[in-house]
Amino acid sequence: MKLKKRLNYESRLRTPWDEKECRTPMQEFLHNRHREHYAERHPVLSETGEAQLINSYIPDECPHCANMIIKRNGYTKNGVQRYKCSNCKQTFTPVTRTIFDGHKISLSEWIEYTLNIFRYVSINADSWNNRNAFTTSRYWLEKLFLVLESYQKSLVFSYKVWFDETFYSVRSGDISRTEEGNKLRGLSSNQMCIGVLCDKSQTLCIFEGYGKPTQKKTYEFFKEHIIAGSTIIHDKENAHKKLVKELQLNSIAYDSKELKLLSDKDNPLDRVNRIHYLLKSFLHAHTGFNRDKIQGYLNLFSFVMNPPLNHLEKVELILDLAFKNPKTLRYRDFYSVK
Ligand SMILES: [Zn+2]
Repeated sequence: MKLKKRLNYESRLRTPWDEKECRTPMQEFLHNRHREHYAERHPVLSETGEAQLINSYIPDECPHCANMIIKRNGYTKNGVQRYKCSNCKQTFTPVTRTIFDGHKISLSEWIEYTLNIFRYVSINADSWNNRNAFTTSRYWLEKLFLVLESYQKSLVFSYKVWFDETFYSVRSGDISRTEEGNKLRGLSSNQMCIGVLCDKSQTLCIFEGYGKPTQKKTYEFFKEHIIAGSTIIHDKENAHKKLVKELQLNSIAYDSKELKLLSDKDNPLDRVNRIHYLLKSFLHAHTGFNRDKIQGYLNLFSFVMNPPLNHLEKVELILDLAFKNPKTLRYRDFYSVK
Protein backbone atom coordinates (compact mmCIF):
# COMPACT_ATOMS: atom_id res chain seq x y z
CA MET A 1 0.00 0.00 0.00
CA LYS A 2 1.29 3.48 -0.83
CA LEU A 3 2.09 5.71 2.15
CA LYS A 4 -0.70 8.18 1.40
CA LYS A 5 -3.21 5.37 1.03
CA ARG A 6 -1.99 3.71 4.20
CA LEU A 7 -2.36 6.99 6.13
CA ASN A 8 -5.82 7.42 4.70
CA TYR A 9 -6.70 3.89 5.73
CA GLU A 10 -5.37 4.48 9.23
CA SER A 11 -7.31 7.73 9.56
CA ARG A 12 -10.57 5.96 8.72
CA LEU A 13 -9.83 3.40 11.41
CA ARG A 14 -9.48 6.16 13.98
CA THR A 15 -11.92 6.61 16.86
CA PRO A 16 -12.08 9.46 19.44
CA TRP A 17 -10.61 7.12 22.06
CA ASP A 18 -7.42 6.01 20.27
CA GLU A 19 -5.06 7.82 22.66
CA LYS A 20 -7.06 7.17 25.77
CA GLU A 21 -5.40 4.72 28.13
CA CYS A 22 -8.46 3.89 30.15
CA ARG A 23 -11.61 3.51 28.01
CA THR A 24 -15.02 2.90 29.52
CA PRO A 25 -16.52 -0.51 28.61
CA MET A 26 -18.80 1.26 26.15
CA GLN A 27 -15.92 3.17 24.51
CA GLU A 28 -13.86 -0.01 24.36
CA PHE A 29 -16.69 -1.85 22.65
CA LEU A 30 -17.37 0.91 20.10
CA HIS A 31 -13.66 1.35 19.40
CA ASN A 32 -13.09 -2.33 18.67
CA ARG A 33 -16.34 -2.76 16.79
CA HIS A 34 -15.54 0.16 14.48
CA ARG A 35 -12.03 -1.06 13.68
CA GLU A 36 -13.09 -4.64 13.05
CA HIS A 37 -16.01 -3.60 10.91
CA TYR A 38 -13.97 -1.20 8.80
CA ALA A 39 -11.14 -3.67 8.28
CA GLU A 40 -13.64 -6.37 7.26
CA ARG A 41 -15.22 -4.09 4.68
CA HIS A 42 -11.95 -2.72 3.33
CA PRO A 43 -9.47 -5.59 3.25
CA VAL A 44 -5.92 -4.95 2.09
CA LEU A 45 -5.66 -6.27 -1.48
CA SER A 46 -2.65 -8.54 -1.06
CA GLU A 47 -4.31 -10.41 1.80
CA THR A 48 -7.53 -11.45 0.07
CA GLY A 49 -6.42 -13.70 -2.79
CA GLU A 50 -7.68 -11.13 -5.28
CA ALA A 51 -4.36 -11.06 -7.10
CA GLN A 52 -4.75 -14.74 -7.94
CA LEU A 53 -8.21 -14.14 -9.37
CA ILE A 54 -7.06 -11.11 -11.36
CA ASN A 55 -4.14 -13.12 -12.76
CA SER A 56 -6.52 -15.79 -14.03
CA TYR A 57 -7.68 -13.26 -16.63
CA ILE A 58 -5.06 -13.32 -19.37
CA PRO A 59 -5.25 -10.29 -21.70
CA ASP A 60 -5.51 -11.01 -25.46
CA GLU A 61 -4.02 -7.71 -26.48
CA CYS A 62 -2.37 -4.53 -25.26
CA PRO A 63 -5.07 -2.25 -23.76
CA HIS A 64 -3.13 0.82 -24.93
CA CYS A 65 -2.62 0.02 -28.63
CA ALA A 66 -4.45 -3.31 -29.24
CA ASN A 67 -1.25 -5.03 -30.38
CA MET A 68 -1.48 -8.77 -29.75
CA ILE A 69 2.17 -9.52 -29.07
CA ILE A 70 2.55 -9.10 -25.33
CA LYS A 71 4.95 -10.59 -22.80
CA ARG A 72 4.85 -11.26 -19.09
CA ASN A 73 6.82 -8.61 -17.22
CA GLY A 74 7.04 -9.48 -13.51
CA TYR A 75 4.51 -8.68 -10.82
CA THR A 76 3.23 -5.57 -9.07
CA LYS A 77 3.91 -5.36 -5.33
CA ASN A 78 0.38 -6.68 -4.77
CA GLY A 79 1.23 -9.83 -6.72
CA VAL A 80 -0.69 -8.90 -9.87
CA GLN A 81 0.85 -10.13 -13.15
CA ARG A 82 2.34 -7.34 -15.22
CA TYR A 83 2.62 -7.48 -19.03
CA LYS A 84 4.63 -5.49 -21.54
CA CYS A 85 3.58 -4.65 -25.08
CA SER A 86 6.15 -5.32 -27.82
CA ASN A 87 4.78 -2.48 -29.91
CA CYS A 88 4.17 0.55 -27.67
CA LYS A 89 6.49 -0.76 -24.91
CA GLN A 90 3.97 0.19 -22.23
CA THR A 91 3.26 -2.11 -19.31
CA PHE A 92 -0.17 -3.10 -18.05
CA THR A 93 -2.02 -5.64 -15.90
CA PRO A 94 -5.28 -7.57 -16.48
CA VAL A 95 -7.22 -4.71 -14.81
CA THR A 96 -5.75 -1.88 -16.90
CA ARG A 97 -8.60 0.12 -18.47
CA THR A 98 -11.25 -1.97 -16.76
CA ILE A 99 -13.39 -0.59 -13.94
CA PHE A 100 -10.89 -2.11 -11.51
CA ASP A 101 -8.01 -0.05 -12.91
CA GLY A 102 -5.91 1.59 -10.21
CA HIS A 103 -7.93 -0.39 -7.69
CA LYS A 104 -10.28 2.44 -7.04
CA ILE A 105 -12.67 -0.47 -6.67
CA SER A 106 -11.46 -3.69 -5.06
CA LEU A 107 -12.98 -6.94 -6.27
CA SER A 108 -14.29 -7.87 -2.81
CA GLU A 109 -15.99 -4.52 -2.35
CA TRP A 110 -17.38 -4.69 -5.87
CA ILE A 111 -18.82 -8.15 -5.24
CA GLU A 112 -20.51 -6.99 -2.07
CA TYR A 113 -21.81 -3.86 -3.76
CA THR A 114 -23.33 -5.72 -6.71
CA LEU A 115 -24.85 -8.34 -4.40
CA ASN A 116 -26.52 -5.54 -2.45
CA ILE A 117 -27.80 -3.99 -5.65
CA PHE A 118 -29.19 -7.31 -6.77
CA ARG A 119 -31.08 -7.55 -3.51
CA TYR A 120 -32.79 -4.33 -4.52
CA VAL A 121 -31.22 -2.44 -1.67
CA SER A 122 -31.58 1.26 -2.29
CA ILE A 123 -28.41 3.20 -2.99
CA ASN A 124 -28.64 5.15 0.28
CA ALA A 125 -29.01 2.12 2.52
CA ASP A 126 -26.27 0.30 0.67
CA SER A 127 -23.90 3.19 1.14
CA TRP A 128 -24.65 3.21 4.85
CA ASN A 129 -23.92 -0.53 5.22
CA ASN A 130 -20.67 -0.17 3.36
CA ARG A 131 -19.40 2.83 5.29
CA ASN A 132 -18.65 4.45 1.97
CA ALA A 133 -19.74 7.93 1.12
CA PHE A 134 -22.98 8.27 -0.81
CA THR A 135 -21.01 9.72 -3.70
CA THR A 136 -18.86 6.59 -3.86
CA SER A 137 -21.94 4.50 -4.47
CA ARG A 138 -23.03 6.85 -7.23
CA TYR A 139 -19.63 6.36 -8.82
CA TRP A 140 -19.95 2.58 -8.52
CA LEU A 141 -23.42 2.66 -9.98
CA GLU A 142 -21.99 4.52 -12.99
CA LYS A 143 -19.39 1.76 -13.34
CA LEU A 144 -22.08 -0.89 -13.10
CA PHE A 145 -24.09 0.87 -15.82
CA LEU A 146 -20.99 0.98 -17.99
CA VAL A 147 -20.38 -2.76 -17.58
CA LEU A 148 -24.03 -3.48 -18.44
CA GLU A 149 -24.22 -0.99 -21.31
CA SER A 150 -24.30 -3.64 -24.03
CA TYR A 151 -25.95 -6.37 -21.97
CA GLN A 152 -29.44 -6.10 -23.51
CA LYS A 153 -28.16 -5.75 -27.08
CA SER A 154 -27.63 -9.49 -27.39
CA LEU A 155 -31.10 -10.49 -26.14
CA VAL A 156 -33.18 -12.16 -28.86
CA PHE A 157 -36.71 -13.51 -28.46
CA SER A 158 -38.55 -16.10 -30.50
CA TYR A 159 -41.59 -18.39 -30.61
CA LYS A 160 -43.99 -16.50 -28.31
CA VAL A 161 -43.38 -12.97 -27.03
CA TRP A 162 -45.35 -10.38 -25.07
CA PHE A 163 -44.96 -6.70 -25.84
CA ASP A 164 -46.35 -3.53 -24.26
CA GLU A 165 -45.28 0.00 -23.33
CA THR A 166 -45.33 1.49 -19.88
CA PHE A 167 -44.88 5.14 -18.90
CA TYR A 168 -42.86 6.77 -16.17
CA SER A 169 -42.98 10.40 -15.15
CA VAL A 170 -40.06 12.81 -15.54
CA ARG A 171 -38.73 14.36 -12.31
CA SER A 172 -41.22 16.78 -10.75
CA GLY A 173 -38.89 19.74 -11.35
CA ASP A 174 -38.73 18.89 -15.06
CA ILE A 175 -42.48 18.73 -15.70
CA SER A 176 -43.46 21.08 -18.49
CA ARG A 177 -46.71 22.95 -17.97
CA THR A 178 -49.24 24.83 -20.06
CA GLU A 179 -49.12 28.63 -20.15
CA GLU A 180 -51.71 28.64 -17.35
CA GLY A 181 -49.36 26.52 -15.22
CA ASN A 182 -51.34 23.28 -15.48
CA LYS A 183 -49.72 19.93 -16.13
CA LEU A 184 -50.01 18.65 -19.69
CA ARG A 185 -52.64 15.96 -20.03
CA GLY A 186 -52.41 12.40 -21.31
CA LEU A 187 -49.23 10.92 -22.78
CA SER A 188 -47.35 14.18 -22.98
CA SER A 189 -43.65 15.00 -23.06
CA ASN A 190 -43.73 14.54 -19.26
CA GLN A 191 -44.04 10.79 -19.70
CA MET A 192 -41.11 8.57 -20.56
CA CYS A 193 -42.16 5.70 -22.81
CA ILE A 194 -40.52 2.35 -21.97
CA GLY A 195 -41.07 -0.58 -24.33
CA VAL A 196 -41.05 -3.97 -22.60
CA LEU A 197 -40.57 -7.19 -24.56
CA CYS A 198 -40.57 -10.55 -22.80
CA ASP A 199 -41.05 -14.26 -23.14
CA LYS A 200 -41.47 -16.88 -20.42
CA SER A 201 -37.96 -16.37 -19.02
CA GLN A 202 -36.37 -13.17 -20.32
CA THR A 203 -37.10 -9.45 -20.29
CA LEU A 204 -35.90 -6.56 -22.43
CA CYS A 205 -36.64 -2.90 -21.57
CA ILE A 206 -35.87 0.02 -23.86
CA PHE A 207 -36.44 3.73 -23.32
CA GLU A 208 -38.14 4.91 -26.53
CA GLY A 209 -38.41 8.64 -25.82
CA TYR A 210 -41.07 10.97 -24.42
CA GLY A 211 -44.81 10.76 -25.00
CA LYS A 212 -46.58 8.35 -27.32
CA PRO A 213 -44.70 5.50 -29.03
CA THR A 214 -44.40 5.66 -32.82
CA GLN A 215 -44.25 2.98 -35.52
CA LYS A 216 -40.77 4.05 -36.56
CA LYS A 217 -39.27 3.99 -33.04
CA THR A 218 -40.94 0.71 -32.12
CA TYR A 219 -39.58 -0.90 -35.25
CA GLU A 220 -36.06 0.53 -34.91
CA PHE A 221 -35.69 -0.32 -31.22
CA PHE A 222 -37.07 -3.86 -31.35
CA LYS A 223 -36.43 -5.27 -34.85
CA GLU A 224 -33.11 -6.88 -33.80
CA HIS A 225 -34.67 -8.53 -30.78
CA ILE A 226 -37.46 -10.66 -32.28
CA ILE A 227 -36.97 -13.55 -34.69
CA ALA A 228 -39.12 -13.11 -37.80
CA GLY A 229 -42.30 -15.19 -37.80
CA SER A 230 -42.67 -15.27 -33.98
CA THR A 231 -46.03 -14.85 -32.29
CA ILE A 232 -46.53 -11.48 -30.61
CA ILE A 233 -49.16 -11.00 -27.90
CA HIS A 234 -49.96 -7.32 -27.43
CA ASP A 235 -52.68 -4.65 -27.41
CA LYS A 236 -54.05 -2.97 -30.54
CA GLU A 237 -51.49 -0.15 -30.30
CA ASN A 238 -51.03 1.45 -33.70
CA ALA A 239 -47.30 1.95 -33.11
CA HIS A 240 -46.69 -1.82 -33.34
CA LYS A 241 -47.93 -2.10 -36.95
CA LYS A 242 -44.64 -1.67 -38.77
CA LEU A 243 -42.83 -4.11 -36.47
CA VAL A 244 -45.52 -6.77 -36.99
CA LYS A 245 -45.54 -6.27 -40.75
CA GLU A 246 -41.78 -6.13 -41.39
CA LEU A 247 -40.97 -9.14 -39.19
CA GLN A 248 -44.03 -11.05 -40.42
CA LEU A 249 -45.12 -11.64 -36.84
CA ASN A 250 -48.16 -13.69 -36.00
CA SER A 251 -50.12 -10.97 -34.19
CA ILE A 252 -52.56 -11.70 -31.37
CA ALA A 253 -53.85 -8.25 -30.43
CA TYR A 254 -56.34 -7.41 -27.66
CA ASP A 255 -58.41 -4.31 -27.05
CA SER A 256 -56.84 -2.64 -24.02
CA LYS A 257 -60.23 -1.35 -22.78
CA GLU A 258 -61.59 -4.89 -22.69
CA LEU A 259 -58.43 -6.19 -20.99
CA LYS A 260 -58.96 -3.77 -18.11
CA LEU A 261 -62.16 -5.61 -17.18
CA LEU A 262 -60.34 -8.94 -16.73
CA SER A 263 -58.73 -10.30 -13.55
CA ASP A 264 -54.93 -10.70 -13.64
CA LYS A 265 -55.06 -14.45 -14.13
CA ASP A 266 -57.43 -14.16 -17.09
CA ASN A 267 -55.51 -11.30 -18.67
CA PRO A 268 -53.46 -12.54 -21.66
CA LEU A 269 -51.01 -9.66 -21.07
CA ASP A 270 -50.52 -10.56 -17.41
CA ARG A 271 -46.88 -11.56 -17.96
CA VAL A 272 -45.84 -8.16 -19.34
CA ASN A 273 -48.12 -6.29 -16.89
CA ARG A 274 -46.33 -7.93 -13.97
CA ILE A 275 -42.98 -6.80 -15.37
CA HIS A 276 -44.33 -3.25 -15.72
CA TYR A 277 -45.36 -3.37 -12.07
CA LEU A 278 -41.94 -4.65 -10.91
CA LEU A 279 -40.11 -2.14 -13.08
CA LYS A 280 -42.07 0.76 -11.61
CA SER A 281 -41.43 -0.47 -8.05
CA PHE A 282 -37.74 -0.69 -8.91
CA LEU A 283 -37.68 2.86 -10.32
CA HIS A 284 -39.65 4.17 -7.32
CA ALA A 285 -37.02 2.67 -5.00
CA HIS A 286 -34.54 5.00 -6.68
CA THR A 287 -36.93 7.92 -6.80
CA GLY A 288 -35.36 11.20 -7.84
CA PHE A 289 -32.81 9.37 -9.97
CA ASN A 290 -31.29 11.21 -12.89
CA ARG A 291 -33.71 10.55 -15.76
CA ASP A 292 -30.85 10.87 -18.27
CA LYS A 293 -29.64 7.56 -16.86
CA ILE A 294 -32.95 5.79 -17.49
CA GLN A 295 -31.47 3.26 -19.94
CA GLY A 296 -28.78 2.39 -17.38
CA TYR A 297 -31.48 1.59 -14.82
CA LEU A 298 -33.39 -0.43 -17.42
CA ASN A 299 -30.30 -2.47 -18.33
CA LEU A 300 -29.74 -3.17 -14.64
CA PHE A 301 -33.39 -4.11 -14.14
CA SER A 302 -33.33 -6.61 -17.01
CA PHE A 303 -30.05 -8.03 -15.77
CA VAL A 304 -31.55 -8.58 -12.30
CA MET A 305 -34.76 -10.10 -13.74
CA ASN A 306 -33.11 -12.42 -16.26
CA PRO A 307 -31.32 -15.74 -15.76
CA PRO A 308 -29.05 -16.77 -14.13
CA LEU A 309 -31.29 -16.15 -11.13
CA ASN A 310 -28.70 -17.03 -8.51
CA HIS A 311 -27.07 -13.81 -7.31
CA LEU A 312 -23.57 -15.26 -7.12
CA GLU A 313 -23.88 -16.42 -10.73
CA LYS A 314 -24.92 -12.89 -11.64
CA VAL A 315 -21.79 -11.55 -9.93
CA GLU A 316 -19.72 -14.05 -11.89
CA LEU A 317 -21.27 -12.77 -15.12
CA ILE A 318 -20.69 -9.12 -14.16
CA LEU A 319 -17.03 -9.77 -13.37
CA ASP A 320 -16.59 -11.53 -16.69
CA LEU A 321 -18.20 -8.62 -18.54
CA ALA A 322 -16.01 -6.13 -16.66
CA PHE A 323 -12.78 -7.95 -17.49
CA LYS A 324 -13.58 -8.90 -21.05
CA ASN A 325 -15.06 -5.64 -22.34
CA PRO A 326 -12.49 -2.97 -21.57
CA LYS A 327 -13.14 -1.44 -25.01
CA THR A 328 -16.28 0.33 -23.88
CA LEU A 329 -14.30 2.06 -21.20
CA ARG A 330 -11.52 2.92 -23.60
CA TYR A 331 -14.05 4.62 -25.83
CA ARG A 332 -15.39 6.59 -22.90
CA ASP A 333 -11.91 7.49 -21.69
CA PHE A 334 -11.16 8.83 -25.13
CA TYR A 335 -14.15 11.13 -25.12
CA SER A 336 -13.67 12.30 -21.54
CA VAL A 337 -10.10 13.33 -22.41
CA LYS A 338 -11.37 15.38 -25.33
ZN1 LIG B 1 0.76 -1.53 -26.88
